[in-house]
Amino acid sequence: MRVTPPNEKLNELSRVLENTMREAEGIGLAAPQIGVSLQIAVVDLRKVEKRPSTMELMGKPVDWRVHMPLFFCNPVITLTRKRDDEDEGCLSFPNLHGPVRRSLRIQMDYLDLKGHPVTLTAGGLLARALQHEVDHLMGILFIDRMAPDVRRALSPELEILQQKQLARK
Ligand SMILES: [Zn+2]
Repeated sequence: MRVTPPNEKLNELSRVLENTMREAEGIGLAAPQIGVSLQIAVVDLRKVEKRPSTMELMGKPVDWRVHMPLFFCNPVITLTRKRDDEDEGCLSFPNLHGPVRRSLRIQMDYLDLKGHPVTLTAGGLLARALQHEVDHLMGILFIDRMAPDVRRALSPELEILQQKQLARK
């Protein structure tokens, strides 16, 4: 569901998202991952040193670190055609990693928590992380994006995770 920032409930939710992400030592989290079907997510890549990122705001290059944690509402992503495969994980699938094909650069139009419209261009890990989180908002998981043989190779681990989730319910 789309959201209408600014509002206090959304600010509260953004704090829960950020804290949950930090406790799990993740670099991104989307509201549906904590059972809230709202169009809001966060990424924070400051702990990642080995995989570079680029960011432009309204067409101007900026230091992406200054803009972390980056919260975004109602995002619309425009992909570029050049893609590559890189290792990816997800807080909803502990210890599961595998290559996922993603665009190297993207544009994302969204609302920030104050309700301001933003146009952001991202490259490197930031582009990948944003694609991953926007997928969550659309109900798409990174395992859905994996090549069939990659996913097949991970299926024993996936089954174990699913059984654990069922046991918890
Ligand atoms: Zn994820």
